[in-house]
Amino acid sequence: MEKPFIWLLNLVALCALFAIVGAIGLHFSEFWLSIGILALLIVVWQFYQLFQLNLWIWHSKKMSPLTTFGPFGQLYQGIHQNQLKNRNKRKQLSHIISSYKAGSEALPDAVVVIDNDYKIVWCNRLARIELGLSWPDKQTLNIVEALKQPDFLNFLVAKRFESPLEMPSPANAHKILEFRGAPFVDNNMMLLIRDVTRLSQIEKMRKDFVANVSHELRTPLTVINGYLEMLPDAADLPPLLVNKAIGEMRTQSIRMQNLIEELLQLSRIEASNDRTFDKLVNVPKLLWQIQTEAQALNRDKHHKLFFDIAPKLYVYGIESELRSAFSNLIFNAIHYTPDKGVVEVKWHLSQNCARFSVKDNGDGIAQADIARITERFYRVDKARSRKTGGSGLGLSIVKHVLTHHNSSLKINSAVGIGSDFSCEFSAELTQIASKPL
Ligand code: ADP
Repeated sequence: MEKPFIWLLNLVALCALFAIVGAIGLHFSEFWLSIGILALLIVVWQFYQLFQLNLWIWHSKKMSPLTTFGPFGQLYQGIHQNQLKNRNKRKQLSHIISSYKAGSEALPDAVVVIDNDYKIVWCNRLARIELGLSWPDKQTLNIVEALKQPDFLNFLVAKRFESPLEMPSPANAHKILEFRGAPFVDNNMMLLIRDVTRLSQIEKMRKDFVANVSHELRTPLTVINGYLEMLPDAADLPPLLVNKAIGEMRTQSIRMQNLIEELLQLSRIEASNDRTFDKLVNVPKLLWQIQTEAQALNRDKHHKLFFDIAPKLYVYGIESELRSAFSNLIFNAIHYTPDKGVVEVKWHLSQNCARFSVKDNGDGIAQADIARITERFYRVDKARSRKTGGSGLGLSIVKHVLTHHNSSLKINSAVGIGSDFSCEFSAELTQIASKPL
């Protein structure tokens, strides 16, 4: 703290010192000699203090000032107080900067700040990962050169920030990134980048889905319309042809109805909020019912059907969904196995987990098709699937039902040998009933 009038006091003290020394000098008749010696001593002392001050400012690591009297003491105190003030300000600033950095690191998006020449001023960790940037190793990294995408350069040049740019990630071609820009301080620009792979996949799925549904519905409608155009002249047509037309129209309308029912079933399962694990399902009873339906379906196919069902093995789940999944797998095995084949259905306990499997000795499925077979509308042999009345949605429904029950579909298949579709329910969901429900 600065003491008021300190300089005046110092001046008074100096004058007093000269007066005393002058008086003593006068007493010994050496007035000028004594004043000269005092002035020299004061100059030497001042020089010494300046020397100490210089050492303290430039070379000393100590913050605390040297203790000395007079104006130099004041000077030390003043400098020291300024140092303390600056230190506090630096602390506050570095706290603000580190909170700002931590905030940007916590963002779920990648952030890059670039200057007018597109050089990176700063970027967060996510940006380094998503864009493969080696900043700050390369301090003067230019983002346009790093990303090497003409679309990106056009986006920066155009500065049309209201419409974001979507492009594959330079670090991973399977990822789609969305770039948004905004003006930032000092003519800089801030880029916000987020992963929209899932969104663009959903958008693609939506487009494919609409195209597939339209296609699937258009085919039977075209057939029905073709026959309907013939009907005004029905009186002139041979009855055999009219009967064929009516039969075909019925088949096609049943196909459309099945397709719509399966679509509704699929969307019901996807949108279902039912608590999956509240109710115990009597799976043996359900499979025996499906067995009767399978035998009816098998009348023209003449397969050997084997049902090996553990009678007390139940699971927690949704009965209607499990019925749909199991029947889809069993009916598929009947449909896609050439006549007089063998289809084995098993429901048993395997290491405390309930396990369902359907094995057939049909044509089998190639590995490349197995990977896609649970996609909606995917069929290995379209013509054959249509002949069986298949919509291509069956396995998609199975997949969703099993996911709903914390399980998944396993497919083992070899072309020319047959297929084995199976799934397991966790021990938590499995229950062995002491007596049938
Ligand atoms: P679909 O309604 O056409 O039967 P799915 O989704 O149930 O549709 O099955 C998709 C495709 O998987 C079928 O078109 C068929 O080519 C093949 N597939 C399903 N189950 C079997 C099986 N047991 N053996 C051979 N191919 C099968």
